[in-house]
This record gives sequence, C-alpha cells and structure tokens, in this order.
Amino acid sequence: MDGLVFIGNSKAEIRDFEVPAPGPTEVLIRIRASGLCGSDFHTYDTEEGLRGPDGAFIAAGHEPAGEVEEVGELVTGFSPGDRVSAHHLLGCGYCRSCLMGYPVSCSSSARAAYGGHRNGGHAEYLLAESRSLIHLPDNVSFIDGAMVACGFSTAFSACRKATITAGDFVLVAGLGPVGLSVAMIASSLGAIVMGVDIDRARAEKSREFGIVHTVSSSAEADAVEEVNHFTGGHRVDVAIDCTGSDAARHLCLEAAAVWGRVVFIGFGGGDLSVNVAELFIMKQLTVKGSWVSSMAESSEAVRLISRLNLHPDRMVTATYGLREGVAAYKAFKKGAPGKLAIVS
Ligand SMILES: [Zn+2]
Ligand SMILES: [Zn+2]
Repeated sequence: MDGLVFIGNSKAEIRDFEVPAPGPTEVLIRIRASGLCGSDFHTYDTEEGLRGPDGAFIAAGHEPAGEVEEVGELVTGFSPGDRVSAHHLLGCGYCRSCLMGYPVSCSSSARAAYGGHRNGGHAEYLLAESRSLIHLPDNVSFIDGAMVACGFSTAFSACRKATITAGDFVLVAGLGPVGLSVAMIASSLGAIVMGVDIDRARAEKSREFGIVHTVSSSAEADAVEEVNHFTGGHRVDVAIDCTGSDAARHLCLEAAAVWGRVVFIGFGGGDLSVNVAELFIMKQLTVKGSWVSSMAESSEAVRLISRLNLHPDRMVTATYGLREGVAAYKAFKKGAPGKLAIVS
C-alpha cells in the first residue's frame, strides 16, 4: 500500500508499505480522511524526518478517520464497515494518566502516537488499537472525524476546563483550526466569543465559526482596551490561547476579568514574565494548561458535533489524494490558509 513519509529537510515521499494484519486487539482501518496538522512540522522540518523506534520511516498523519476493514480476534464493539476515528495517542493503559483517560500524558515508554512512533493515517490503511477508536455517527463526516482525532478534541477539552457557561465573554487567541474549534464549541454553549489573530484575513473568516467580534488592535494595551470596550468594562470571563506566543498568552491574562479563567493550549513561546500579584492573585484568576484531551472527551466531542450538526470539516479549504500528499505538505509549508486534509 502507499504511505506518505517525511524523509527530512521538509520533504515528503510516497513509499510502499505492507498492508498489515491486525493482532488480537487491533483493527485495520481503510483510511478515508487524514488531516494535516501544524505539529507535523516538528518532524517534517527536521533533518532525520519521521522515523519509528527502529529507525525506519513510518507513514505520517496523526488525524485519521476511515472504515473498519478487519478486526482482531479479541476486538469487541467494532466490526467491518464501521465508521471510526482514531484518537492519535496510545498509552500503556495502566499508568495514572492512562487510567484518567489521558494517553497523551502516559508516563510509560509504551506511549505511542499514530504518525509519531507508529504508522499514521497518511496511508491507505492504518493498524490501530481498538481502544483508541471512536465510532462516527453517519452525519459526522470522515473529515469531521479526522479533526476530532486531534485539534477539535484539544479545543473541546480546553472549553471543558474553562467551564464556559452561557453568557460568558470568551476570547480566543489564534484563529487557526484549534482556535476556530474553540469558537464553534464556545458559541454552541451560548458564550459571546471574541477572537484575535495577527492575520486579518483569518480573523475575518472566523466570523463563520461563531466569533462575533475580532480584536483589530495589535499592541497589547490597545487590544485590552478594545476588549474592555466591547465587554462594557467587564473584560472576558474566559480566555483561551491557541497560539503558543508569549504576547498572546500575556494578552489573555490581561484581558481576563476578575474571577476569570485562562487556559493555555498553544505550544511554543518561552518563559513568560508576568506580574503575579496583579494578574493572578488580585484577579482571583484560574489559569490552566491543557494538552490534547481524554478519550472520553474525544467521544463526547463527536457526540456534540453530531447532535448539534457543528461540522468542523467546514474549516477544510483544500483536500488532496494520498498521492498528492507531497504537494499538500508543500502548500501547507507555504502557509496555505485553513485546514488541509488527505482524502480517499
Ligand atoms: Zn494534530
Ligand atoms: Zn500510561
């Protein structure tokens, strides 16, 4: 079968792989959609590319969705033909974080990501552990499912941790696919959602995803004043940073109201210098970090998009066949706007 590999120095190639046979607890999935994600560049851009533990190239892609082709002898709950998405991380299943449902924080050396440590979704088939799979209802598209495998669930978990409530003012910093997912979820909860992004075109587009006001000021003091003005002097009950930049993180802390909640989900940045007394203590602020999501949250995210017909697949601006995957990554690297996905 074909699989897309990252061979290093921002280059990808199609390589031939054996179609794997499922072990007792595994499921073979015919891939229908596989999302491209900003975190792919962590390996795409390196000299060595993306390799498994044995040093061989592995198929990339950690946002897979498709149809069950074959199941192992001990698998229950999944049958050939089922539509599924695979949460992109596999934990040991036994450590504290795994027991809490968070394979991303698994402390075992057995922790593995599809398209990170073992073959991923940029291939014709994916061999997945059945415990990482989530059923997709018929009205959830394969691209919706691919987005739940990573970014949408990350946004969902952050919204849960921020305890967003109807009527809350929410500020989303960074309006890429994760930020837009936060906006979709927060607005579906009845929040009044504002967004900020240095890319004006991206900010304008975000209105289609539930954002009612985009902050146009770039200097922090002006942006805070704009938030202050829009919220009638209240500032925001919740601020969620999806950028990972120190400036946006600081803006979230400044823009938060007294008793506000701030959640950081964007990777990057450095050591942030803040006035703890003024920004944390005197504001009675709750600040949380949130990394990916629990397995339960991923399936609840599917429930939400199915029952409310949210369709994060609307963020996808271009789709590519697997054999066009090399071109897809070139376009992604050049900064193609929106979300890109490989489909078949
Ligand atoms: Zn991702
Ligand atoms: Zn574990």
